[in-house]
Amino acid sequence: MKIGLEVHVALPTKSKLFCSCSMADTDAPNSQICPICLGFPGSKPMLNEAAVSSALGIANALHCAVNNSISFVRKVYFYPDLPKCYQITQMDGAIGSAGHLDIDGKKVRIRRVQIEEDPAQIVREGMLTLLDFNRSGTPLVEIVTEPDITTEEELRSFIANLRSLLYYLGVDINKEIKADLNISLPPKDIRVEVKNVTGIKSLIEATRFEIERQTDAIKNNEGIARETRGYNEKSKLTESLREKETDEEYGYIYEPDLTTFEISGTKFVKATYVGRIASELAEGTDVNPRTIREITMLDRHSLGLIDKFKGKYGLRSIIHGIQRFKKYGSEEHASDAEIEKIIGLVESGAEVTREMVLDILAGKDVKVEYSRLTDGQLDKMIKEFLEKNPKLLEEYKKNSKTINLIINQIAQKNNLHPKDVAKRASALLNSA
Ligand SMILES: [Zn+2]
Repeated sequence: MKIGLEVHVALPTKSKLFCSCSMADTDAPNSQICPICLGFPGSKPMLNEAAVSSALGIANALHCAVNNSISFVRKVYFYPDLPKCYQITQMDGAIGSAGHLDIDGKKVRIRRVQIEEDPAQIVREGMLTLLDFNRSGTPLVEIVTEPDITTEEELRSFIANLRSLLYYLGVDINKEIKADLNISLPPKDIRVEVKNVTGIKSLIEATRFEIERQTDAIKNNEGIARETRGYNEKSKLTESLREKETDEEYGYIYEPDLTTFEISGTKFVKATYVGRIASELAEGTDVNPRTIREITMLDRHSLGLIDKFKGKYGLRSIIHGIQRFKKYGSEEHASDAEIEKIIGLVESGAEVTREMVLDILAGKDVKVEYSRLTDGQLDKMIKEFLEKNPKLLEEYKKNSKTINLIINQIAQKNNLHPKDVAKRASALLNSA
């Protein structure tokens, strides 16, 4: 069995993809509309930079090759939710390609990450078919995978990992994941598409149904049609909608109203970092979840410093060093070498004070000399500290991370190296 996914995610922007209409939640249908998102003839789309930035974060988080010169195409089709008869989307000029998302030690390849607009919403009320254009022009990112998912467990892991990645990127994931499924079974591997499945539960049910249906068809020597099917949430069945359309049938043409958009240079540096950090967080490296918030607060120069010193120092230490510097130093007068000294001090476990920052700026050598104590002396000190601070001990029993607070307080008060304190403190608290 081979499963490929096309996942649609709404980007967290204040306005729509090609106009300035609001993306705020509203109960009043057709209240956030304009000639552009209504698709009036003669209206011209204007690209929302915030959507590009957000999509760039996702492309980076999915380890994609980023296209520095993105462009758009018109996917031509007729449907009431799309009066201008084409959806603006991306193909060769897509923002990201050839990425991957790790699931349980396996890589699911990402073919493409593309930006596109959502059409209007069709609401059926009895005999009536109503259209709400508030949704028209919602910025979406479509994440297209290669057919690398081979089991139900992998499908679950993929969605779970993608959701956690999007969470760290600040993309709203309260709404259910929407996806199109491509399922094919050996030996013939005929690709059947199941469109517009919402939520992991429905994705699993639709997959199970399709596997059963196709397995039976193969057993009974019935052919499997290359087709597009819909998923019925009530009956939990997939139903044939139409023959699978080809790219040619969509008559893709280059979107002449949008020029090629350059995303190289410094403007989008932050999105790139945020994307990379989000993937580290989601893949469970030791980056603290607070880090991503701190990174999004940093300016371009600081992000450049992270790039320069990462690998040599821990990410937390670099951010902490930059923050110390911003608090106490005057950035205009600081060289990268001086900031590196601060980062080095943070890395050594020292509490970097105002005096230390000013000394470094004045060209003085700042070294931290720690007191050295025997294990016995350390143990005694830690025990006394815990006796005086019973609340911290209580806290620790509830949340083991409190140990860092305990270690830092003891180390700073007594001019000790935090690592020395940490060794004894964890031994003592674990045995307690
Ligand atoms: Zn609009």
